[in-house]
Amino acid sequence: MMLTFMEERRNKRTAAVVLAAGSGRRMGSRTKKQYMLMKEKPIIYYSLRAFQNSFVDEIVLVVSPGDIDYCRSEIVEKYGFDKVCSIVEGGKERYHSVAIGLSSISSCDYVFIHDGARPMLTEEILERAFDCVYTYDACVVGMPVKDTIKIADYEGNIASTPKRNLVWMVQTPQVFSFPLIREAYRSLLEKEQKLLKDGIVVTDDAMVVETLTGHPVKLVEGSYENIKITTPEDLVIAENFLKE
Ligand code: C5P
Repeated sequence: MMLTFMEERRNKRTAAVVLAAGSGRRMGSRTKKQYMLMKEKPIIYYSLRAFQNSFVDEIVLVVSPGDIDYCRSEIVEKYGFDKVCSIVEGGKERYHSVAIGLSSISSCDYVFIHDGARPMLTEEILERAFDCVYTYDACVVGMPVKDTIKIADYEGNIASTPKRNLVWMVQTPQVFSFPLIREAYRSLLEKEQKLLKDGIVVTDDAMVVETLTGHPVKLVEGSYENIKITTPEDLVIAENFLKE
């Protein structure tokens, strides 16, 4: 019997790695930004809720050292996020936290890696990303830029102006077939010292896959509301989106 695209897709096992182990220094607040309140709920609540209410089968939550008990009782148990199968301590850089999160997954077909600091994740974004990764094995959510972007040189002069229609700002989730992303991160950790020596700074998962496997990564539309909460004004903007 022939299965439809949707039926085949439904048979795939999916996991999410939700990252909340950053220090949130740019927020300038005593409370870590992932636990700051937005409409009376901690920021991290919103991305966990999006995954909990979606087709995703299991969630790994990566938190700062010392926050595991707090997250278990005050977030995971309190809000009934029963898809969270493990809560683990992250590492120094974002990519260390991702590698630790990936190592807590025993087996699945696809992994959604998401910044817990992006609370505006929606079911539509998850569906679009799943369709895309199912076809291409690697995709990242993003949006075309609205402003003209300039590449600067080290003196602060404009070095070049990329064609605006080819420039995207990249968001999360970034979604990959599990064997591909596991291999990319294994290779990253093996070559970490050399990459650091060459001045390569890894800031997202697509870069890990591009640099260490050469596998192409597809861009898929997220939303202009899927912002990352970094500084206090981002919190005001996200709260306004929630009101809508
Ligand atoms: O620092 P940045 O804004 O790029 O962080 C993006 C996401 O990665 C945040 O959700 C943050 O909590 C997470 N992160 C992490 N471990 C780190 C650094 C950042 O889980 N060492």
